[in-house]
Amino acid sequence: MNLFNVYPRFPVSLSHGLGCYVYDKSNQPFLDLYGGHGVISIGHSHPVFINAITQQLSRIGFYSNTIEIPEQELLAGLLARLSGYSDYQLFMCNSGTEANENALKLASFHNGKSKIIAFENSFHGRTSAALNVTDNPRISAPINQNNFKVVFTELNNKAQFDKAIQAEEVCAVILEGIQGVGGLNEPKSDFLEHVARSCKRAGALLILDEIQSGYGRSGHFFAHQMSMVKPDIITMAKGMGNGFPLGGLLVTPHIDPWPGMLGSTFGGNYLACIAGIAVLETIQQENLIGSARTVGTQLRDRLLEIPAIKTVKGRGLMLGLELDFPIKDLRHQLLFKHRIFTGASTNPNLLRILPPLNISMDDLGVFIDALQLEIK
Ligand code: PLP
Repeated sequence: MNLFNVYPRFPVSLSHGLGCYVYDKSNQPFLDLYGGHGVISIGHSHPVFINAITQQLSRIGFYSNTIEIPEQELLAGLLARLSGYSDYQLFMCNSGTEANENALKLASFHNGKSKIIAFENSFHGRTSAALNVTDNPRISAPINQNNFKVVFTELNNKAQFDKAIQAEEVCAVILEGIQGVGGLNEPKSDFLEHVARSCKRAGALLILDEIQSGYGRSGHFFAHQMSMVKPDIITMAKGMGNGFPLGGLLVTPHIDPWPGMLGSTFGGNYLACIAGIAVLETIQQENLIGSARTVGTQLRDRLLEIPAIKTVKGRGLMLGLELDFPIKDLRHQLLFKHRIFTGASTNPNLLRILPPLNISMDDLGVFIDALQLEIK
């Protein structure tokens, strides 16, 4: 049977990973500055992660939400402490798009409205509602075209946003803490605060998609926490399970659940919870949020010394290096000549960096040397 061939893939296959390195079948190391698409938060094959999942698997791997699963409360307790959202409620699912799908649905259940404001260059996922608020018509099929109304406005443009929220009966506004796929554009604090105030006035909910920018990657637990904003719903995935499929929503205490309102067969299963707990404990024990902040700042400073790098966008260990030429060839050279994985985005001139949060400046030195060689 052939694979349904939707992924342009590099001709590399891996045998194992350790920390911020992955190794191919001939044991050649690759520096992982892509983190498997921003997923690897605490590093590959972290011993705490392996032990926790292995031990859980030998007890019980799965049962559904028809029974009590105390591990869900353990995860929620840790998440409350580390994120600062101790009064919020946790709903667990399995991926980023599913988190956004449920967030949009929940907002609509809550206020009975259906129009959404999203932003240019956004990416929120590929299932129906999440896709509808994603600014990429190319991945939208005819079946997705008669969905609820979405107005896309320019990020950080208050006038455009004000016009949209006044003209429409808006259910919710959704935006990324820092845009990932769209090229590391971020909402300024005062814009975010303006959006939050406008949402309150209009009776619309504010949904912060922290699927890529959350879980310490920005140097804060969530990227929006550099502002004063407290969104109504926060969506999470990627770094939450360090590769174990795990997503979730944090929901304001003002939204009441009712039985059957949301649901998922696999969401919050034992293994997912145990993986999520191991991630949070490691983030705390190894001070990975502080590390993302300091290493990210040092990396940015070093990168800006390279004349060909025009701008470094993003924060912490979610960075975009903007050059004045397309990065496609550079990305290939980094991978095949220097054995360094990096990421791309919809901005062809931007190299995206999403390494594991435990990377050190020593590891990153190899990347800086390679860049200096390739782009002078
Ligand atoms: N939201 C953001 C900001 C993302 O970056 C992504 C994936 O890249 C998604 C949502 C969708 O996540 P998933 O691929 O897990 O469905």
